Parts: sequence; structure tokens; C-alpha cells
Amino acid sequence: MEKTTASMPETDYYEALGVPRDASAEDIKKAYRQLALKWHPDKNRGDPSAEERFKEVAEAYEVLSDPEKRQLYDRYGRQGLKARGYGEPSFTTVEDIFSHFSDIFEGSIFEEIFGRGGSRRPQQGRVGADLRVELELSLEEIAQGVGRTIEIRRQVACQECGGRGSRRGSRPTECTTCRGYGQIDSVQGFFTLRRTCPRCHGEGTLIGDPCPTCRGEGRRPGKREVTVSIPAGVHDGNQIRIPGEGDAGARGGRPGDLYCRIHERRHALFTRHGDDIYCEVPITFSEAALGCAVEVPTLGGRVEVSIPGGTQSGEILRLRGQGLPNLEGHGAGSLLIRVTVETPKQLTARMRELLEELKEAESSASQPARSGFFEKLKRYFKTSPE
Ligand SMILES: [Zn+2]
Ligand SMILES: [Zn+2]
Repeated sequence: MEKTTASMPETDYYEALGVPRDASAEDIKKAYRQLALKWHPDKNRGDPSAEERFKEVAEAYEVLSDPEKRQLYDRYGRQGLKARGYGEPSFTTVEDIFSHFSDIFEGSIFEEIFGRGGSRRPQQGRVGADLRVELELSLEEIAQGVGRTIEIRRQVACQECGGRGSRRGSRPTECTTCRGYGQIDSVQGFFTLRRTCPRCHGEGTLIGDPCPTCRGEGRRPGKREVTVSIPAGVHDGNQIRIPGEGDAGARGGRPGDLYCRIHERRHALFTRHGDDIYCEVPITFSEAALGCAVEVPTLGGRVEVSIPGGTQSGEILRLRGQGLPNLEGHGAGSLLIRVTVETPKQLTARMRELLEELKEAESSASQPARSGFFEKLKRYFKTSPE
């Protein structure tokens, strides 16, 4: 595929589309559709200048259909576009143009004639299937990020024929029915209908002398080890795509992709909420009242935290940065320690004695929530009608 050389005279974008400088967006779109149809390389086979014109109008349309680029072009010309980094058109091939402006071609007469995407060259071979594997990871592994080597059974390219499907030394021949295009046209009235070539199934080539090892498929069942590196901070259900590690394509077609789906294993101590992890730590009644130091787990080992006196059951202590790293690189989450106060279930005589004594000593000042509640209760019954 040739690129427009810099020495070529640069045509005015409005002239290229044949529209006045004050043309509306709708007019520009309409003009482009007509010209793209006129200069489409499939309609002008054997005329290399058609492809050049086709690209030229696409480039003009790319600029004039974008309000920001159009304004720059109106004021400063191509130099203005270059200065903003819009110097090169974002496509170089006919296929690029189709995918770039797919919205404009969709549902149009264009699509009826040239088919979706309008590919005019046959795809070589058949694309291999995508494969999926499941990977179970612990929270510790997710925190670190890990590399895993997995063995997958899949179609691999035939070594004997190099994946082409022809016996070594022989080559596939161009399909004579479609002359290598993979598609054939039949004219029906005003329209040209296009369908996949029934002889070569769209591949454009025929294998006259098939490889004896793979019987012309170009691939065979096999095994392969693939190393997957899993970034730190992944979430349950995330998928990692490894391009080209799916099944090999048939007869030199491109391979499929491999998808690794992450499963997070349940942790004995932690539960995860986004990048934060929670851990429940029970303490005794006296520890909560007096304050204490407790050992708590983190993903990186144990640490000691001090719990201040007067901590209520259900209060949460936040250890910043001790959660999981953020997948997008925005720091790390927190480890949230949820303290629960465990009321003693069995009392020794000594404990009972001490608690009875404590009960005597308790005052409204030492239990503000409780005394507040009784205050509210009193007021409520005073004001509410009988
Ligand atoms: Zn054919
Ligand atoms: Zn083979």
C-alpha cells in the first residue's frame, strides 16, 4: 500500500469534496458518500489513481467532518492541523478508511454493493478460535501480581508445511473461479451482488497438493505452555487477553486469542471491597474499655495496632495503604480492622464479683449513649398523647 508522498500537490479539502467553504455538515457527508462510491477501488479495478482519489476524499472528509479540525483548517490550512498534531490522516489503507468511517457506510447503498467493511482482498486462511482459561488466585497473589505458566491444549501450526497446508515444495494456487479475490460478483439489474467464492470458501487460493501431516489444514492438535503475567490489583472476573495464543488459524490464517479469567479465592481472614480489605478482630470487654495492643494480620505479615480505650463494638480502624494495590496505579486501598467486643459467656466467681462491683460504680457519665437514650425515652412518654 503506497502512502501519499509529500511532493504531491496538496489539494484543497473543500475542492476535493466539491463543496463550498460554507457547506453544512450534512452536505459534506453527502458529498463524501457520493465520491467514496465513485472512487471505490472495487469499482475501478485496474485504475491505480482511483485508490489515490479514494484516500484523498477520505482525508478531506476526516478533517471537514470534525468541527475542531475544520476550524483549524479554515484559519491556518494544513499547517494549522500539523501544528496541533493532526498532520497525518489516521488511516493508510482502504480497509482503514472503512473501519474509520464505518458509521457513514452503514446501511447505505455502499454497504449493499460492497458488503460490510467492503474488504476486497481475501483473508488468508481461516482465523483460529479464541480460547478461555480460568485462573484461581489468592489475595496475597493479587496483592503482589504473579506470573503463571499454564499448559493449554490447542491447535498449533503444522511444522511440516509451516502452516500453509501445501505439501513441502508446492504452493497453493490462485483460485481460478474468483481469480484470488475470494468473492465473486454477479450483476443483477442495477446492483452488483457479491458472495463468497464457493470453490475456495473465500480464501482466494486452492491447495492442489495437500501436506500429508495435516491433510491440508495447516494445523494440528497440540499443547503449548503460555506464561501469563497478572498485574497486581486484579479483580474477580477480570479477563486478561493474550493476543495470538488461541488456536492456530487454518492454512496460514491468523491465530485466535487466549483469555484468562481471574477467580479470587476466598480468604480465611479478609473480605475484599474494591481495593480495601476488611478484617474482623474480636476483643474483650475490658480491652475495649481500657485500650489494648492487638496483633492483626495484613497481606504482608503481622502488625501490632493499638486500640484506644473506650472503643465501641463495630468501630473501624483504618490502616492506609495496607489494602490491595489499585489496578490502574492509583496507590493502594486500606486495611479496615473492624473491632467487635465479645461479651463474656461464662463467668467465674471472681469475674462475677468484679462485674457486680463495676456495675455499682457505673455512672451516667461513663455511659453517655445509654443515659442519652433514657433521657429521650422519658421525654417521648411525657409529650406523647395518652
Ligand atoms: Zn475462489
Ligand atoms: Zn501441514
